[in-house]
Amino acid sequence: MNGTPDLAAVIAADQQLWRDFQAICDCGGRLAGTVSEERAFAYVRAQAEAATGVQGRSIPVPYGGWSPRGASLTLPGGARAQCHPLVRSVATPPRGLEAEVIDLGRGTPEEFAAHAADIKGRIVLVRHELMFAAGTIHRRRKYLAAMEAGAVGFLIAGPVPGRLVAGSSGRQDGPGIPAAGIAPETAAALRPTAGGWPTARLEIETLEQPAQTQTLLFDLPGQGDDWVVLSAHIDGHDGGESAMDNASGVAAALAVARALAPHVKSLPRGLRLAFFSVEEWALTGSAQYVQNLSVAERQHVALNVNLDSIGGSPNLAALTSGFAQLEPFLLRIAEASSIPLRSVRPLMQNSDHANFALAGIPALRLVAGFDDANANLRFVLTPSDTRDKVQPSELTQAAVLTAKIVAAACSVSDQDATAWRQVTSPG
Ligand SMILES: [Zn+2]
Repeated sequence: MNGTPDLAAVIAADQQLWRDFQAICDCGGRLAGTVSEERAFAYVRAQAEAATGVQGRSIPVPYGGWSPRGASLTLPGGARAQCHPLVRSVATPPRGLEAEVIDLGRGTPEEFAAHAADIKGRIVLVRHELMFAAGTIHRRRKYLAAMEAGAVGFLIAGPVPGRLVAGSSGRQDGPGIPAAGIAPETAAALRPTAGGWPTARLEIETLEQPAQTQTLLFDLPGQGDDWVVLSAHIDGHDGGESAMDNASGVAAALAVARALAPHVKSLPRGLRLAFFSVEEWALTGSAQYVQNLSVAERQHVALNVNLDSIGGSPNLAALTSGFAQLEPFLLRIAEASSIPLRSVRPLMQNSDHANFALAGIPALRLVAGFDDANANLRFVLTPSDTRDKVQPSELTQAAVLTAKIVAAACSVSDQDATAWRQVTSPG
């Protein structure tokens, strides 16, 4: 950008970044449909309006509302263990679902295949994996595999002793099997014995009804008709603060908007700030947003920069979704800023950027701690995803890099921006 101040210095001096992060955490876990989510939207809207000087545009997002009303698991011998229904899990019959539990370890396709004949009529038990790793098998794939093999229930054990694990079952409407997260100790109590598979009783009570949330947009026009969309999802899971995932991304997006707002009008492209919800509902908010864009509107989005879980580790990665020309662009900016950045090439459908990418819009996700089993990101989707896992310096660094990426994307030549649209390594 010509004649613009040092973005790194502006963001380093921005005291509001850390305050926003804490305030969003203060709202609670922000499960879609809760007062906690509503409070976060109100806060973010006020802060974004202050940052950009423009009124937010709210697009209604209808979705299948779902809330857990109670859950428990009765172990062999009658002891009761806590469990956490996965988002959109179906309910069990009122008196519970009693079945044998088959432990499939991690829950790889090989493990499912090896036990194909044993799964029908049983509850499948698998392990939760670090989500931001190259070889991760997503919980939703394991859930689907269990369902397809005829399982009657699904349990997923988290990595943190004494802690349950949350997440989405991936079910939309329609059929499903009851699914819940459990602590590792509970999984240990469900080991097979010489007597065979243990029997457990799972009880899940839910309420399902049509619901509505929103996508919040703030437009800072540039000189031309094109946009760079900077996005972050506001929703999360109950039981913690959803601090890394994704108070970190929302707070950083606000800081980037504050730093760039005075300058965007002189740039070739505008900045559109987008806050999505029901991301934890199989990316529903961003899916509806992208679906409702006309072909022409899609053409006018030069790039989506999606911030999801950018705190919890100082190591940042850009998931470049198969858009090969994004990589040299991003690495050049990171290098010039002395911020280490790893580029991960395949399309990873683990956040809102995926919906842009699937529609042919160049899109990337910035994420911290990718492929690092020791990073605090291992606590994501557990009640331990709390603010103490994030350092102020991590938020600052991610916001600085993002501001530079967005500013450069608003400024590159049309020729460069067109080249980004070539997909050379899909999925
Ligand atoms: Zn997320």
